[in-house]
Amino acid sequence: MNASVSNNGLDPSRLAIHQISLLEQCSFRQSIELFSSKNIPATGVWYDKLHEAGIDEARTIVADHGIAIPAVCAGGLMTHRNDLEFHKSIDRSRRMIDHTAEIGGRSLVVLAGGLENGEKDIDYARKRALEGLARLVEHAANTGIRVALEPLHPMVTSLRSVLNTLAEANDWCDQINAEGILGIAVDTYAVWWDPRLDEQIARAGKRIFGFHISDWLADTRDVRVDRGMMGDGVIDLAAIRAAVDATGYDGYYEVEILSARDWWQHPPAQVVETIKQRYQTAM
Ligand code: ZN
Repeated sequence: MNASVSNNGLDPSRLAIHQISLLEQCSFRQSIELFSSKNIPATGVWYDKLHEAGIDEARTIVADHGIAIPAVCAGGLMTHRNDLEFHKSIDRSRRMIDHTAEIGGRSLVVLAGGLENGEKDIDYARKRALEGLARLVEHAANTGIRVALEPLHPMVTSLRSVLNTLAEANDWCDQINAEGILGIAVDTYAVWWDPRLDEQIARAGKRIFGFHISDWLADTRDVRVDRGMMGDGVIDLAAIRAAVDATGYDGYYEVEILSARDWWQHPPAQVVETIKQRYQTAM
């Protein structure tokens, strides 16, 4: 056996590639056609691309290519103090839940939201997001779509998410208590640094609705759009995957690489081929 090639034996039928991994290169249709031609069985839909394509068109493209949609990204952002703005963002996420159902998706990924201009009360923002989440879950329960709450890395607290740890995400799930409807998206990029990661993955258990994968580059230059290809960074992806697998997780391994300076600049077929290769060698 060639020692330079290791094959972890990951099942190719469990690989999903999120559309945002080809944000700059592909339209909704182009990404689905490419995934289909490369035998990628599933994708995480990027809502802006879905919106561009239109729901009817998107539903047809997805059905024609037999691509599974474990997740649509991303709704939520529900920390507004102003009631009108708060309800607007909840209504938007409710529509996203409806659209997820209409294209045959399984879960809507939901982010808490950051701190508005001038807002300094992070406890309030967290309470507000939890209140919004409870309202969304009610709507999701009526549609059969699951809500996958995704904590984000602490460096994006002000911009995107006042929810930063799996422990908090588990606490919020405990408080809302909607088993089977409300769960968690574990994103390696967001949670890899957490000293309590293993314990909180085990605690999440069946709540893990999605597992997002990318790497953290040692010299990262942007905390949101400079994610690394698996194997190029510092995250022990195999260890995190093993912890997620140990919960009985049988969903997709969803590769989600936001990379303005690197992977968004490559031909899309090359990105997909690299992901397929690293899926077998780096996680
Ligand atoms: Zn993610």
